[in-house]
Amino acid sequence: MYTIVPLCLSGENNMTLINHLLYLTQPFVNRPDLIQGPGGNTSVKDEEGNMIIKASGFRFEEITVESGYSKVNSKKISDYFFNVKVTDKTQEEKHSLQVIQNNILKQSSGEFFPKPSMETGFHAVLDEFVIHTHSVWSNLINCITEPFELLKKIQSKTGLIIAYIPFVSPGFGLSYLITQELKKANELQIKRPQIFFLENHGIVSHSNDLVEAQTMLLEVDKAIQNLLGISNEYPKTEILSMEKYYTPSNDFVWNSILKYQVDKQFFNQVLFPDQTVFFNNQITFSEDFGKKINIIPVKGIQYHCGEREAKSIHETMTAYFFLFDNILKLNKTPRFVSNEEIDYINNMDMEKHRKSLMK
Ligand SMILES: [Zn+2]
Repeated sequence: MYTIVPLCLSGENNMTLINHLLYLTQPFVNRPDLIQGPGGNTSVKDEEGNMIIKASGFRFEEITVESGYSKVNSKKISDYFFNVKVTDKTQEEKHSLQVIQNNILKQSSGEFFPKPSMETGFHAVLDEFVIHTHSVWSNLINCITEPFELLKKIQSKTGLIIAYIPFVSPGFGLSYLITQELKKANELQIKRPQIFFLENHGIVSHSNDLVEAQTMLLEVDKAIQNLLGISNEYPKTEILSMEKYYTPSNDFVWNSILKYQVDKQFFNQVLFPDQTVFFNNQITFSEDFGKKINIIPVKGIQYHCGEREAKSIHETMTAYFFLFDNILKLNKTPRFVSNEEIDYINNMDMEKHRKSLMK
């Protein structure tokens, strides 16, 4: 299939892992339809069982040769996920974080690399090149109540092996379920899934061929657009700097707020975990500098925070309304994440770490 080796990588023995990571990530940089805020992650492994992966809380465009990534012993993390027997989920969640923490490697300066992405577990168990995005196109399928007919069609259109992972909080649970899919394929001696659709979350592709990992994701997005009969156009997500706050540069979110007569309760309809990270306790319907998201009648939307955070909030807000609006237009029923699942996510240590890095 996609065995094309990118020109800049052929014949280069000394190409470092970081250059591979930058190359792998490139098509997904500045794509607010695929990545909102510091969501999503990419990773690359070497033959010695090491892996570099986007660091927790960084945006894709913030990965450079010097920073934005971490390095771990992925062989040890993978062994843990393949062998773990869960008796207590909360205890195991803590244990898994410890396993990852213990396997962070040191930089040449002697310091440890920064905290890796909270999804390090599933990256470790997959092939050499892994890409995980929060593509709104895949989420049009992940965030509806009956996705299976559509998934079957995507599978036959693309010829890819697709697995569907039911909603589970990011981190340990998700890595565990993906590992179970790989174990199942090994036991049955069938091909491993190439693409994982994650309910109310996003999509993962992996391959030992860098270009294949990229192409599969882009192909699936295109197949979804064709199948659902929607154009690939996505609203712009720029924000403007006003004197005391930031505001969207276009009316997409504001028009959606008017269209759905959005009130406080509206945002309790959670379509994906990052929504709770950004919106939880931050939305008000009056001018209030104590809250980050002000939705003010007649006046419009104001983001009361730094530019980096306002950008992430607005990208998340745009993705949320894009999904909500299109799912209804397609006559599908949205699947919302339950309150119990949301409370769990908000109390996760890794989410707290991520929140602290938002600013
Ligand atoms: Zn994710």
